[in-house]
Amino acid sequence: MDRGLAAPNQTLKMIPSFVVNLPKGSETGTYLALDLGGSNFRVCEVTLEGAGSSGAVSNVRMRQRKYVVSDDLKTGRGTDLFDFFADCVREFLVENGIHATDPAHNELVLGFTFSFPCSQTAINKGALMHWTKGFTASGVEGQDPVQLLQDAFHRKQLRVRVASLVNDTVGTLVAHAYQDPSTHLGIILGTGTNAAYVERIDRIPKWDGPIPASGKMIVNTEWGAFDQEGVVLPLTSYDSVLDRQSAHPHLQTYEKMVSGLYLGEVMRLVLADLASTGELFRGVSSTVLTTPYSIDTALMSRIERDHSAELADVRVVLEDLISIPKTSAEDRRIVKRVAELIGTRSARLAAAGVAAIVSKINRLDDCTVAIDGSLFEHYPHYANRMRDALREIVGIAADNILLVQARDGSGQGAALIAALADA
Ligand code: ADP
Ligand code: MG
Repeated sequence: MDRGLAAPNQTLKMIPSFVVNLPKGSETGTYLALDLGGSNFRVCEVTLEGAGSSGAVSNVRMRQRKYVVSDDLKTGRGTDLFDFFADCVREFLVENGIHATDPAHNELVLGFTFSFPCSQTAINKGALMHWTKGFTASGVEGQDPVQLLQDAFHRKQLRVRVASLVNDTVGTLVAHAYQDPSTHLGIILGTGTNAAYVERIDRIPKWDGPIPASGKMIVNTEWGAFDQEGVVLPLTSYDSVLDRQSAHPHLQTYEKMVSGLYLGEVMRLVLADLASTGELFRGVSSTVLTTPYSIDTALMSRIERDHSAELADVRVVLEDLISIPKTSAEDRRIVKRVAELIGTRSARLAAAGVAAIVSKINRLDDCTVAIDGSLFEHYPHYANRMRDALREIVGIAADNILLVQARDGSGQGAALIAALADA
């Protein structure tokens, strides 16, 4: 982290987000937000209602709709991808009776959560460094996603102004800070994994911009890249195969051991190997089991959630969904144990990252960590496994580190950051 804060082009990119203030909780107004995470694309309308009458909790109302980004869009032409975003926004506005083409109305203000590594030069300006998470759309790397989106809105005659470029980690941090001022970290555990935190500006030697009055800057660590050199993390042969066959070999080493896009694939590689050696399924495999990325991490959740004596639901997963002809109870116990190992490794590595940042910013006495993403939300025991690991790493101080689910943080955060930028 220190290397990334000192100079550009380090493994951890430690990107200044240009967000220098956390919300006060009194912000109000209606904003649009787009959230491109990796699996899902959401359009949201966020209404900030400021502090409730009690003054204690800030209120946010939200309307949203999810769209699926097809593999063709992910890997096709960039203009088609951004036209698709603009079409989704138009559809959302029409459905909700919001005007965006009529010059009699004010332009709508939008926050863009674009969760890929971007070097930022302003709150609404940046350049995509490189795609991650299976995206390869052409003509986007090196370009400004804000400009590409704004151009698509122009092509579609939508009067929407893109006011902020936000990483989902930063959005999650800011959104949760609207409720809880002890929030200093925002973490994503979804398709990918990443973290942002509040850093002191004098601890960012590479920063040569104006010194903000707050003396602070939210930094997007891009921690998924950790150990790209492959010298720290203990990789198994399965991790190496996954890396070699991935869309981005030698990149995002930590992410590949932690996040939702990859856990199911690690498990598939292990099971396919054990089937090929005869240690599982009496040596019988299936087409599903030999097809890359055919096992979603959600299936691992299901396997881990089965506590029945005969592992009846694990049988359904293996025989009906993964098409293994016949499984024994012993097979199913082994499969469940494999899921446990991969899931636990993920949670413990994520906790190591949290411990590193909380220690770095000296917040071991009090720190709220806002966490968004389906992996953290749905994977059984994930939070408990993280807590156990935190206790092993930082001892009793782990009790002062609050890991909280921050659902929808990326959408709300983008709206809040648009509000802060627009003020
Ligand atoms: P995004 O990262 O696009 O914002 P999510 O936070 O929903 O989206 O994360 C999607 C990832 O979460 C996918 O990789 C998927 O495999 C994983 N996932 C979805 N549901 C579950 C579940 N029930 N248990 C574990 N992982 C899940
Ligand atoms: Mg997300």
